[in-house]
Amino acid sequence: RGLGDVYKRQALAEKDPLTGLYNRRYAEDKFTAVQELCQRSDEVIAIALLDLDKFKFINDTYGHHSGDLTLKLVAKQLQQDFKRNSDIIVRYGGEEFLLIMPLCNALKIEEHLEHFRERLSQLVIDDQEDNHQFNVTTSIGAVLGNGTYSASLEDWVKQADINLYQAKHSGRNKLIFTTLKDTNAQATEPQ
Ligand code: GH3
Ligand code: MG
Ligand code: MG
Repeated sequence: RGLGDVYKRQALAEKDPLTGLYNRRYAEDKFTAVQELCQRSDEVIAIALLDLDKFKFINDTYGHHSGDLTLKLVAKQLQQDFKRNSDIIVRYGGEEFLLIMPLCNALKIEEHLEHFRERLSQLVIDDQEDNHQFNVTTSIGAVLGNGTYSASLEDWVKQADINLYQAKHSGRNKLIFTTLKDTNAQATEPQ
């Protein structure tokens, strides 16, 4: 076997076969290096957790083929809208996506996510094989924090998930975005 096979196998281990996005394991591995860099250079990281709205309904109504097509088109739209070298786009679970955006523009990232949410809601999903046309929306929970916030991706995702829960409960197709207080900074504040 040549080096090409090794790389191919590596890519399979890092990527989700349906969407071609990175998988969760890759995200966790990569985050360690990303966070170290941001911590050292005093940069921020934004994390967004996306969960498609009423995706079970899409599967139940239009079938699994349309459901899979939806996931592929959402992935494609994410790749179009988050195209910086430093952006990491992940299929985090079944119909959940994670964006890791280090070195992002803290002032513009909320607006950028909002635009993505809006554009996705307008995308027509056209399953020509089954002759179905429909839309999909996503709820988004996002956080922005200093790189020093935590070395564990899980800690960041936990905070993003709290916002995602809010987005679902305030009617779906919403973005909830908050800024994280630095845990190190908190420790030095007077009680
Ligand atoms: P909510 O707005 O609260 O998120 O509702 P929901 O229907 O999206 O949530 P729920 O967790 O009930 O359903 C998720 C669905 O996603 C159920 C499952 O069949 C579907 N799903 C997960 N992975 C895949 C996949 O790879 N392909 C397809 N077609 N469907 C998938
Ligand atoms: Mg879900
Ligand atoms: Mg869902």
